[in-house]
Amino acid sequence: MHAPSLPGQTIEAYESVTDDDRIRRLHSLADTLEDASILHVNSTATGGGVAELLRSIVPVCRDLGIDDNWLVMDATDDFYEVTKAMHNGLQGEGAPLTEEMQATYREVNERNAADIDATYDIVVLHDPQPMGMLDSVQEAMPDAPIIWRCHIDLTDPVEEYLSFVADYAERTDHAIFSRGVYGEAIDVPTKRIIHPSIDPVTAKNRSLDEETAAAECDHLDPLSFDAPIVTQVSRFDPWKDQFGTLDAYRRARKTISDLQLVLVGGMAGDDPEGLELYERVAAEAADDPDVHVLTDLPDLTVNLLQRRSDVVVQKSLREGFGLVVSEALWKRTPVVGSNVGGIPLQIEDGYNGYLVEPDDTKRAADRLVTLFEDDERRATFGSNGREHVREHFLLPRQLEDLLTVFVDVLD
Ligand code: UDP
Repeated sequence: MHAPSLPGQTIEAYESVTDDDRIRRLHSLADTLEDASILHVNSTATGGGVAELLRSIVPVCRDLGIDDNWLVMDATDDFYEVTKAMHNGLQGEGAPLTEEMQATYREVNERNAADIDATYDIVVLHDPQPMGMLDSVQEAMPDAPIIWRCHIDLTDPVEEYLSFVADYAERTDHAIFSRGVYGEAIDVPTKRIIHPSIDPVTAKNRSLDEETAAAECDHLDPLSFDAPIVTQVSRFDPWKDQFGTLDAYRRARKTISDLQLVLVGGMAGDDPEGLELYERVAAEAADDPDVHVLTDLPDLTVNLLQRRSDVVVQKSLREGFGLVVSEALWKRTPVVGSNVGGIPLQIEDGYNGYLVEPDDTKRAADRLVTLFEDDERRATFGSNGREHVREHFLLPRQLEDLLTVFVDVLD
């Protein structure tokens, strides 16, 4: 296990985006937790929403005086193959979970568990990857409540993967899901729903001055900011459906002839499928100079693209939450997104974007055209999106929900 290096952050940084009462409540929750030592465990320090959340939550908790810690598993490619299969299986698609896969999973988890000092009062295991350390952690810290923080949509899983994970989950003390329906199939002693959030003060989401924005635009040459742009930001993962996005773009381009598509993607450290999918998407787009397939961009550049695109699209087939939707809405960019997982929590159809069924690229294209042809609608949806995120999906709200759970489980 290793502790990722983290930026410093202060709670004061959030005062301009949240009300004073919430800041007071956060201080009060933190006071209650001042003697508690908390550990989060996940399987990657970069790439994907879980790393994004922890990178914000842990530094702010520390500033509040909470002893909050984050350890990332050390693992081999064969472990990530297994856990990606598990992730796919929990989302509804998968090859059989063999004895050998289970043995790899257990062995890597036990090795990582041996690195944990038995000094924590609460242990939070994120997603299925670290659940295999449950028994060792319980044995080492019998009094510490163990929380399973599940970020995945479990509504249509392959049964054998669900029961493998449920066997662990049902022996934890508490589970947190991103939506109510995700936890229905799992029988944990207590459950809570916490919607994720974005961090408005990071390089990814903060406002950009003109000079910085202009420099970022230059980095993106030959993309033209004088012609319409639609962007999707997603790991290269089959569930993010970059091919569906390409199809919607091609259809929309029959009407918006100078439309450009940007597909921004990264490879999460624990996702072995990324590179192959990236190569397939890049090959498919190679003969169209108006499709830009960009990898591993700095956060400021992602920020600029989400901000300066006319529309953002998120054509996922499954989506635990989809932080990228709130990231775009916060920047006043309307989003056309699939009606799956956490996306409908964020997009109100016809208010700040449009929802489409995940297999309906024709409809997605029609919605893109509607937005591209109507500047006023885009502006209205943009400001609606900003307010929707301000109200529901900024970090201080999620932090309050999370600290409330920590206080409750120690009660
Ligand atoms: N992300 C990024 N660069 C990329 C692709 C993704 O910075 O090339 C970030 C994105 O901005 C978001 C997170 O990774 O903060 C993805 O979280 P989300 O919940 O949308 O999806 P997940 O990857 O967890 O399935």
